[in-house]
Formats: sequence, structure tokens, C-alpha cells
Amino acid sequence: MNIQILGAHNCESSSIKLVSLLIDDTLALDAGGLASSLPIEAQLQLKAVLLTHQHYDHIRDIPTMGMNALFYETDIRVYSTRAVRDALATHWLNGTIYSEFLEKPPDNPRIKFTIIEPNQSFQIDGYDILAVPVNHSVPTVGYQVTSPDGKKVFYTGDTGPGLASCWPQVSPDLLITEVTAPNRYEEFGRRSLHLTPSLLKEELIAFQKLKGYLSPVVLVHMNPKQEAEIEAETAALSEELNTPITLAKEGEQINL
Ligand SMILES: [Zn+2]
Ligand SMILES: [Zn+2]
Repeated sequence: MNIQILGAHNCESSSIKLVSLLIDDTLALDAGGLASSLPIEAQLQLKAVLLTHQHYDHIRDIPTMGMNALFYETDIRVYSTRAVRDALATHWLNGTIYSEFLEKPPDNPRIKFTIIEPNQSFQIDGYDILAVPVNHSVPTVGYQVTSPDGKKVFYTGDTGPGLASCWPQVSPDLLITEVTAPNRYEEFGRRSLHLTPSLLKEELIAFQKLKGYLSPVVLVHMNPKQEAEIEAETAALSEELNTPITLAKEGEQINL
């Protein structure tokens, strides 16, 4: 399994992009900096875009890809819970902000949506996908993706403390999760349901206790202004827990 980090941040500029991951050039996880990172042909070759939740930094490029699909006379396939589809249909793809790509043209919509149910696995192009609810300020699911050769990655999307409730359901070879802010923002993390390195530590200890191992961990969704601080705290945590924990970078490729 090849995982390409398209976007690793919660802000965007000429050098960083909003969260989006690409697996084997086939599946995309979240669509923050998705269209802005890929040639149109590569966007339209994706078998699926899996969305974790409806926040702007995770869905931003879906309307753009709908327009690309229109002019390239094809469609894109998007998977999410009903909440995300409803938010897109109500607020963006509603004929006011942008075209109604979820419904138009009626016989062949440019965005083909599949509503998924949490805790039920499904298949896309030989990949087994399991959506697992996580603890965030709007309904959010993480995705465990298992490749045809059995490699597993679990991407949590945005999450606060409480990941331990996911651990019985997943057994990743690689965990991709979020750390938004440094340890001094722990109270903010508990309130707004994001992680700091200190909050992540509790979740990883629970993982190790339950599973008997700790996979490497890659972090996304960093606030760029505090990234150096997050990186230093993460390096200390990595050493303490004796497992690689690294901050993702745009353009990075990970092979499992
Ligand atoms: Zn969010
Ligand atoms: Zn976010």
C-alpha cells in the first residue's frame, strides 16, 4: 500500500494544504487539498473519495471536482455518512453557492454519492473499508482501509480524546491521526475535540494495552503556527513510547 500525503494541515498557503490522503492512486481520504494537489485526470481516475466529516477543511475540493467531472464528461464517486451529504447538498451544492452536482443531470449526476453506515464494512475495488465513529464536534468517522494484500491503515479524521472506543474494531499497520495543537492547548483540545501530543499519549497507551503492540503513527491537521512546538513534543512522545511518531508533510510517500 502506498499512501501519499496530499495535505497535512488545518490551514492552507502556497506551501501547505488542507487535509487529504491518497492511497495507491485509487482512494482519497478527505478532500481538503485534493483537487489542488492532483492533475484533473488523476482526480477523475479515483475509485472513491471517502469523507470523514463535513468541516470545510475536509470537504473543500468536492465542488471543484464536480465541476471538473462536468467538463470532462465523467463523474466522481464520494462516500460518507448521511450527515456529510446533507450538509453539502444544503449549504454548497444547492444552486446558490454552486451547481447541484449531487442531482444534476438527473440521469447521471456528476457527483455519485454513496451513504455509508458506521461500523459496517464495505468493498471498493478490492479494498475493504470500515468506518468507525470518533469523538468530534460534528458526526465523524475514521476509516480503516485494508488493501487487497492485507495491509491496514486507520485514518481517524479529526478527533478529540476517546479514540480508545475505536481500538477494539481496528488493527492498523499504520495509524494516521490528528494533532492540532501543542500540549499547552490540552484544555482547548478537550473542549473543541482535537488532540495534542499529551492527549494522543493517553490514546496510544490504551491501544498498546488492548492490542499488545503499537503501530507507527503519522500525524496530520497541524496548526502551522505551532508546528515546531508540536514536532518537539511529538519527538519526545515517540521516544517515550518507543514507536515512530512523525508529522506528515505534503508530498510525502509512505509504503506499507
Ligand atoms: Zn473537524
Ligand atoms: Zn479539520
